[in-house]
Amino acid sequence: MSVTVVEGGHVVTGDAAGTEHAVGHLVLEDNRITAVGAGPAPSAPTGARRVDAAGCLVTPGLVNTHHHLYQWVTRGFAVNGTLFEWLTTLYPVWGRIDANIVRTAATGALSWLARTGCTTTTDHHYVFPRAGGDVLGAEIDAARTVGLRFHPTRGSMDLGQSSGGLPPDHVVEDIDTILAATEVAIDRHHDPAFDSMLRIAVAPCSPFSVSRELLVQAAQLARSRGVRLHTHLCETLDEEEYCRDHFSSTPVDYMESLGWLGPDVWFAHAVHLDDRSISQLAATRTGVAHCPSSNARLGAGIARTRDLLDAGVDVGLGVDGAASNEACALLEEVRHAALFARARGGPQALTVREALQLATMGGARVLGRADEIGSLEVGKLADVAVWRMDTLAHTDIADPVAALVLGAPPPLELLLVNGVAVVERDRLLTVDEDDVAQSVRRASRELLSRSG
Ligand SMILES: [Zn+2]
Repeated sequence: MSVTVVEGGHVVTGDAAGTEHAVGHLVLEDNRITAVGAGPAPSAPTGARRVDAAGCLVTPGLVNTHHHLYQWVTRGFAVNGTLFEWLTTLYPVWGRIDANIVRTAATGALSWLARTGCTTTTDHHYVFPRAGGDVLGAEIDAARTVGLRFHPTRGSMDLGQSSGGLPPDHVVEDIDTILAATEVAIDRHHDPAFDSMLRIAVAPCSPFSVSRELLVQAAQLARSRGVRLHTHLCETLDEEEYCRDHFSSTPVDYMESLGWLGPDVWFAHAVHLDDRSISQLAATRTGVAHCPSSNARLGAGIARTRDLLDAGVDVGLGVDGAASNEACALLEEVRHAALFARARGGPQALTVREALQLATMGGARVLGRADEIGSLEVGKLADVAVWRMDTLAHTDIADPVAALVLGAPPPLELLLVNGVAVVERDRLLTVDEDDVAQSVRRASRELLSRSG
């Protein structure tokens, strides 16, 4: 058995009572947390690894609830476009990806998530070119290599331009192919175990790129297999208009009519919601992945985070794809969630501890893993971030949680995923960062050369 003792840091447990220890300890045995408390650890076997966390803040590992990993190789395009302009610029490029490019892009994106404190991430992958090979398998390989807990989704688009959708016909699949491939993905990869490192979800892309029939059948498939459902919803006013024109309803009413609200569903964005839509999400316990940076980058709007939380909706944070958020660091989403909520609703709209909670327990709830991850409590999995708060950027900020949330991103002293060290002293242990950067550069250029 491997034992790690983390001592001397300010421990934010993230438990329901909001317990913090100004000087506390954490004991990890293999992949579980076995002790959390104030002061030094009571005892530890000889041979235990001891981590001196003096000057550090110890938090649960961050949970990312929305991403498109493949976009790491298509950053910086259509920088001033709306969502629909940005999508129509990028669909032709994305239509030429393959398994090798996705493996490289995902390795880059996952490496950066790890470097910025994330221990669990989802991915929404919905572009499956016919000659692209096993794209989903490639990103799963990447997550194993980098060492993050991974919730990839088998996404899809079946509504090309000739059928009234937004994407060009050559990047969409037919409904039978999609459903068969989704079943294969669940059979091959989904692990429902408590300490699972890999769970699959089902994720048609958005109301304007998939058919009604696909949404209905995808929901039936997911529920028959006990996996979760995910899609984009209420991201922009253009989308709201599309739903009004095509379905004569709000996006939330449309999804409700298709069986797409419930505790096993989470929506990315949920920016444009009226009070009734928020009540519908709350009543059905449908979760939300709030992506403040991407929403700001695309000028989509600011989500009603305070109103969602007050209504009892589970809200997690997402970086969204790197093509609409070139930074893709989850800690930045914590900061932006706090700042944007306050820009909208005043200084009390979201406290720094509530913002951090969105990225930890909020995300765990949205992914259906509240019992396993999201807080530092005995019996939970050993996913831990240790942030160094005693350097020039943060030293002497009165409240260490305010320093983490409102200050510059601090150095990451240690990141443990499932009890295994993935980052130490701001360097990845599982991959060579410089090699990854070079591979990303090559893959990005290769993809652009294919797109002519
Ligand atoms: Zn997205």
